[in-house]
Amino acid sequence: MAELSQPATILAITDLTPHVRQIVVKPKTSKISFQPGQWVSLKLPVGSKPPLNRAYSMADPSSPDGDLTLVFDRVPGGLGSNYLYGLRSGDEVALSGPYGKFILPQLLDRKLLLIARYTGLVPIRCLLKQIFFAKLQTPVLLIALAPHEDEILFHQEWLTMAMQHPSFRYLPLVAQNGESEAVGKTLAMLTPLVKGEPQIVPMICGTKAFVHPLRAYFTERGYDRKEVKIEPYD
Ligand SMILES: Cc1cc2nc3c(=O)[nH]c(=O)nc-3n(C[C@H](O)[C@H](O)[C@H](O)COP(=O)(O)OP(=O)(O)OC[C@H]3O[C@@H](n4cnc5c(N)ncnc54)[C@H](O)[C@@H]3O)c2cc1C
Repeated sequence: MAELSQPATILAITDLTPHVRQIVVKPKTSKISFQPGQWVSLKLPVGSKPPLNRAYSMADPSSPDGDLTLVFDRVPGGLGSNYLYGLRSGDEVALSGPYGKFILPQLLDRKLLLIARYTGLVPIRCLLKQIFFAKLQTPVLLIALAPHEDEILFHQEWLTMAMQHPSFRYLPLVAQNGESEAVGKTLAMLTPLVKGEPQIVPMICGTKAFVHPLRAYFTERGYDRKEVKIEPYD
């Protein structure tokens, strides 16, 4: 069940790419226990009718100390993300949660196909950590889209995971011209990959312009909408 809104202290700030930042926050009132793939709602003191609610997925699974790792991009003109970029260690932010159903199926007996663009990779990172921590043997393919070569999020981590876990394959793609190019490049990869495969579990995260056409690709091939897990960001 979702917790009430509470203050959280920013413990650490790290820039992951030129436009993506990670913050570690500690909820002050009570620990937030969550499942990988879930998110918290930040209540930001900006906009015409504050608070401005903005969702951010956890990038790391639950930790014993209750710290939450959040990762976000600086959206040009974006009220929420630009406010967050102005925060410093020791500042406080109000949040509530956890929320969301972008979680692993209880029974993972099929190949997992994870597709995400840019910060859509944040909950995916959390899910992959869960999978490898639990030593699940499920084959996993990650297709990771970046808007620029400097912005390939978690690239080194995925490469290390691919070396350590033979069941994990990683396909990075750069699409500099927005979501439609990212969709086109993904579809070009998907057709040979999905062809001839038994049914797989697709999980897709990013903005709607990215997520919806990719879900349509699967539903047009006989998947039920509920079999294609999506997390649209906008
Ligand atoms: C369930 C959920 C989980 C989310 N998790 C994350 C996360 O882990 N990391 C993260 O960076 N964002 C995440 N988001 C998006 C986040 O809540 C905000 O929408 C985003 O930070 C933009 O807010 P803003 O106020 O700065 O921009 P706004 O003023 O609301 O402008 C948003 C516009 O910017 C564009 N845009 C560029 N990047 C993004 C983005 N990342 N998300 C949404 N729109 C974007 C879109 O075209 C959108 O129309 C999540 C959203 C949802 C619904």
